[in-house]
Amino acid sequence: MTTHFDVLVIGAGPAGYVCAIRCAQLGKKVAVIEQWLDDKGKSVLGGTCLNVGCIPSKALLDSSHKYKEVTEHYSDHGIGVEQPSINIAAMMARKEQIVAQLTGGVAGLLKHNGVDVIQGRGKLLANRRVQVVAADGSENTYDADNIVLAAGSLPIDIPVAPVDQDVIVDSTGALAFEEVPGKLGVIGAGVIGLELGSVWGRLGAEVVLLEAMDSFLPTMDKQIAKESQKLFKKQGLDIRLGARVTGTEIQDGKVHVTYAVGDDSHTEVFDRLIVSVGRRPQTEDLFAEDAGVTMDERGSIFVTEECATEAPGVWAVGDIVRGPMLAHKGSEEGVMVAEQIAGKHHPLNYDLIPSIIYTHPEIAGVGKTEQELEAEGIAYKVGTFPFAAIGRALAAGDSDGLVKIISDENTDQLLGAHCVGPSAADLVQQLLIAMEFGSSTEDIQMMVFGHPTLSEAVHEAALAVDGKAIHMANRKKR
Ligand code: FAD
Ligand code: NAD
Repeated sequence: MTTHFDVLVIGAGPAGYVCAIRCAQLGKKVAVIEQWLDDKGKSVLGGTCLNVGCIPSKALLDSSHKYKEVTEHYSDHGIGVEQPSINIAAMMARKEQIVAQLTGGVAGLLKHNGVDVIQGRGKLLANRRVQVVAADGSENTYDADNIVLAAGSLPIDIPVAPVDQDVIVDSTGALAFEEVPGKLGVIGAGVIGLELGSVWGRLGAEVVLLEAMDSFLPTMDKQIAKESQKLFKKQGLDIRLGARVTGTEIQDGKVHVTYAVGDDSHTEVFDRLIVSVGRRPQTEDLFAEDAGVTMDERGSIFVTEECATEAPGVWAVGDIVRGPMLAHKGSEEGVMVAEQIAGKHHPLNYDLIPSIIYTHPEIAGVGKTEQELEAEGIAYKVGTFPFAAIGRALAAGDSDGLVKIISDENTDQLLGAHCVGPSAADLVQQLLIAMEFGSSTEDIQMMVFGHPTLSEAVHEAALAVDGKAIHMANRKKR
């Protein structure tokens, strides 16, 4: 007999579990199917984000930042610490404890909301049926009025650097090193390369990032990317642009990497090598040929703006569909789909999804970049303000970077907010809220910001758009 649900969700990552919870809140009978098991055979919820992504990487970023503070900056505050040391095992245990707390929390939330968890690998069949093969080999078939595919993504492999999770690792391996590598190579100076390169660099590794593109962080605002590159250089990250890796060879536990920059060939020997060249949607054997689901030209599941696939009653959300592979984007898609299943209209503003790199300082941006506006021929005005002129940033000894606001030259409407600096993600989020409400720069200029706060950089950048910043010399005066 086939068990029936109102909604079946395949994948319990941030896109899938959030969708399941919202469906349950809206009165639906829901089950989420998840294949992931831990080494004790227990079901693992939370997907990439909670287990091998956002959360463990941030735990290590925070631990390594504290180490860097103790070793390099405490003395500025008059605090002496004799011989700080690192215990990697303890750092990893802390990370695992945070992951366990959060994944346990997801299990509790699903239970609280009456969502069934079905262990196994799900495959969408025709007519809104799902076949599930459990770890013990048993098979069951379920059907539902609505099915949500939320199977996430996997790291991209490149044949030139095959991952063995020992010497050559992907992001999952790089979150679990047992010791600090002496010399660490990273292929790809994108988000993962910068975050995990920073972790191990702060703990003492010599880090070299080999980036195929000639420009650094090309999708970020160009001024913010340039400033960030300068700061990373100051921190000791060796970022080599235009570097095409042509071969790797493991000898005596080390990896010899050959790469070309233009016509010149180079070799570097690393203790460990991280491959972080992007992620791809996890679609293998996820749906039968006659299920009605189609793919787009980039290998993602094709969906409409509302996340509907071409099969009636089948939706897809998160990393498996177009758009940035970000946990918050997937979760909001999950909510949007749940609301639609319940007959509600719930659009998602894809123009205002923030991107953040959690290095120190953080890098964050939302809305249009200068280069996008130039390409679109839209007249704009810009205001920037450096943290070096913000009292709170100086008091904290954390004054690198700037806030940048871009507004429409004619209407004054906020078009973009970008930042590299302390708490960049939270500062940009303030402007995102303003942008959602269609605010103008003048709206921000006229608001009262607490003193002394980092947020004052947002206020001053807004004032600078019209040459009215108080705590710096303006380029144009009004
Ligand atoms: P996933 O989290 O990948 O979850 C998919 C789930 O589906 C998995 O649990 C998988 O086991 C399961 N599954 C797949 N196929 C099947 C099947 N056939 N049957 C049953 N179950 C199946 N994003 C951010 O926004 N902020 C960050 O700071 C951030 N940091 C990151 C750091 C790292 C190192 C990495 C790798 C990623 C990071 N990301 C970050 C990206 C973020 O993790 C992903 O965007 C997010 O997890 C995608 O959510 P999802 O639910 O679509 O997929
Ligand atoms: P990415 O797309 O951010 O960066 C990959 C980099 O590798 C790019 O700069 C690309 O030009 C380069 N590259 C590709 N092929 C190469 C090659 N053969 N040789 C050298 N360089 C090469 O991807 P990622 O860093 O692997 O991260 C994967 C996904 O995970 C991203 O989409 C990101 O959104 C998500 N993620 C997000 C966060 C966050 O939000 N803070 C953190 C980590 C990961």
